[in-house]
Amino acid sequence: MRTFSNSVIKWQKVNGRNDLPWQIYRSPYRVWISEIMLQQTQVNAVIPYFNAFMKSFPTIDKLAESSKDDVMSHWSGLGYYARARNILKTAIILKNNYSSELPCSLLDLKALPGIGRSTAGAIYSLGFNKSAAILDGNVKRVLSRYKRISGDLTKTATLNKLWEISDELLPKKDHGTYTQGIMDLGATLCTRTSPGCLICPVKKKCLARIHNETTLLPNRTPSKKRRKKEVFWLIPKDEDNNVYLEKREDSGIWGGLWTFIECDEKESLKKIYKSKFNTDQSSFKKFKEIEHSFSHYDIKANVFVVSLKGKPNPQSNVESIWTNPKELQSIGTPTPIKKLITEINKNG
Ligand code: SF4
Repeated sequence: MRTFSNSVIKWQKVNGRNDLPWQIYRSPYRVWISEIMLQQTQVNAVIPYFNAFMKSFPTIDKLAESSKDDVMSHWSGLGYYARARNILKTAIILKNNYSSELPCSLLDLKALPGIGRSTAGAIYSLGFNKSAAILDGNVKRVLSRYKRISGDLTKTATLNKLWEISDELLPKKDHGTYTQGIMDLGATLCTRTSPGCLICPVKKKCLARIHNETTLLPNRTPSKKRRKKEVFWLIPKDEDNNVYLEKREDSGIWGGLWTFIECDEKESLKKIYKSKFNTDQSSFKKFKEIEHSFSHYDIKANVFVVSLKGKPNPQSNVESIWTNPKELQSIGTPTPIKKLITEINKNG
């Protein structure tokens, strides 16, 4: 069993990634933030976000004392915003219950908001150099090929089997290097298409390579048909070109972020507008249509702008603000919303 881990460790020290920002001055805190950012996002996209985040929130204390808006604004553009909400919740728990440190216990790590089994394993091994299995997307691919596991990766039985293998292959020492190595192997050599088997450190015992099945494994999960949804956005704009935004509730898509007034039907926009701004006078101008993809569905948004006199105080049961591109930096807004505000501002 140790042949695999020894080979991975040796390979990582020479060929792995060792100069990513979270690997320089490695600490459980920096590992935690990087692991959460990397969950749905590529390394290159994460780097500037990680650096900016660490500059603003260098310690768990500083993070725990920050406002939700401040944290969300640092996540703006990364997507999957529940991750940022959970980071703030966890930071507060760490400050109150763990002396502002991440706990050196797999069980305690797993109990924190937004930290699942694999992320807990990554923090434990990379941050504390302790023995723990991980099973992220890259590792699933490496192990299902290495051990020729052919089940559906979305099924619990297959995942349990892979967790077992991940546990069995753990080394006796160099835990952090091993975890980094198996992640690097999946990200850089054992890639989805055209894996670099010829230069792979575990090629001799890799069953998928031996049986010429690297293109078949892991089994492809049949992709579900994506849902499409049409929405209507209303953007009230004042005389100074500021636009009106409302803050969404914490749960759901774009939860906790500032967005436009949204309806499922065009007719509802006027009613909502009237109830909020207490006026019938309105000429809604269609600004454009945009398309945006979420993880499980796509939306087509019909964007309407209404120009207002002065800066009226709307009747709203949710938090609201008037804002412009400059002020956008300090609040959390999804990328498509940010782009639209900038465009509207340019068009006057
Ligand atoms: S030999 Fe090829 S398929 Fe097997 S682990 Fe290495 S890169 Fe992946």
